Amino acid sequence: MTRPLAVIVGAGVAGLAAAWWLDRAGWRSLVVERAPELRENGYMLGLSGLGFETARRMGLVERLEAASFRIDENVYRDSSGRELLRLRYRDFIRDLPYVAIRRTDLVRTLAENLPDSAEIRFGETVAGFEDKGDRVEVALAGGERVEAALLIGADGFRSATRQVLFGPDRDCLQPLGYYFSVYDVDAPKAFTTDFVSYAEPGHLAEYYALHDGRLAAMHVWRDRRPGLERAPDKLALLREVSARSHRQVRDLLDHAERAGETPVVDSLTMIDLPNWSKGRVLLLGDAAHCLTLVSGQGAGMALASAEMLERALTETGDLLPALARHEARLRPIIGRLQTRSRKMARVFIPQTAFAFRMRNFIMRHMPRSLLSRYFSGAIRSEIELAKQ
Ligand SMILES: Cc1cc2nc3c(=O)[nH]c(=O)nc-3n(C[C@H](O)[C@H](O)[C@H](O)COP(=O)(O)OP(=O)(O)OC[C@H]3O[C@@H](n4cnc5c(N)ncnc54)[C@H](O)[C@@H]3O)c2cc1C
Repeated sequence: MTRPLAVIVGAGVAGLAAAWWLDRAGWRSLVVERAPELRENGYMLGLSGLGFETARRMGLVERLEAASFRIDENVYRDSSGRELLRLRYRDFIRDLPYVAIRRTDLVRTLAENLPDSAEIRFGETVAGFEDKGDRVEVALAGGERVEAALLIGADGFRSATRQVLFGPDRDCLQPLGYYFSVYDVDAPKAFTTDFVSYAEPGHLAEYYALHDGRLAAMHVWRDRRPGLERAPDKLALLREVSARSHRQVRDLLDHAERAGETPVVDSLTMIDLPNWSKGRVLLLGDAAHCLTLVSGQGAGMALASAEMLERALTETGDLLPALARHEARLRPIIGRLQTRSRKMARVFIPQTAFAFRMRNFIMRHMPRSLLSRYFSGAIRSEIELAKQ
């Protein structure tokens, strides 16, 4: 019997994981990625909890660990360089397994591990689709028409598939009141520790040392101005945001400018939709339920939701009931993570000097056992929820 075909929009974490798990369910996939190739640069992310468990079941942990970074401790400094805080990720997750890896290395590992039943087409996208009830007719931008049993929109936070399926985005966007920016910078001798943050009220700049001596830089700042992701000069925007930051932050922006880096800027906005599928079209990953970096679980949930899709397909056999079952299982977990993101966003980067000092004081003096009980307890209960 021929395997049913899924067209997957986006060769990111969700799309590639979906192709792997669909193979397990007896499907084949065509993954279309609009970028001409896999990106080289990319921000750092932490994989733990449900996502780590899925990666383990995909047999990827050894490869992910080989590409991972050892980040034991994060030193926070203020704009004068004074140490504010030292946080270890282990304080939050205790003995739960964890890898720190660049998004690009995670995506590359997934791409290298694709089954024979999946094909990736770079420089390609979906120009249109029509759900015919028993199939979806998908028109590719390159001109080809494909008949598929399922179309998956795994095209990230700004998903075009979502907008075609459910209309303009305004109702599902939940801005958390921040923007972020990520870029690489070539300044190998800038720091003696692996992970440094410079923080002041309303703004945080973080630097991770990469294997090649470069730094992965990330800024997060409070800002409610709309449309900054379209600012024509991103470095000028970052200079404005960092005007009161430590000198090192401003120097590194100069380095980035001399090297011709083009920072990515986007808002920290969650996606909250009443449904993740309609007929034979399903949204996965950030396209369906962007959690933002505040939760630290978006990539993990992109992996885990692909596995949950396979489980629902295998259990029910029929597509539409399987999509309903997939959503029913995933929704309580995503709901918990989004509630946590909303709560954490309030204290993530305090806006006023007073709130900033209070937050740092509390973080410095809070018993580490309390922190870990909260975070590792939450991650463990999400692992349990997924088993139901
Ligand atoms: C700075 C930062 C830090 C983060 N830290 C963490 C962390 O510590 N832990 C964690 O688990 N998560 C973290 N996340 C979240 C995580 O990166 C995302 O949740 C995850 O990448 C979502 O995967 P995705 O496949 O849904 O989307 P993406 O990774 O965004 O992939 C979408 C893909 O679709 C492609 N695409 C888009 N539009 C089209 C189109 N029209 N046609 C074809 N292809 C298209 C894109 O090029 C891309 O390849 C972080 C995110 C950011 C920004």
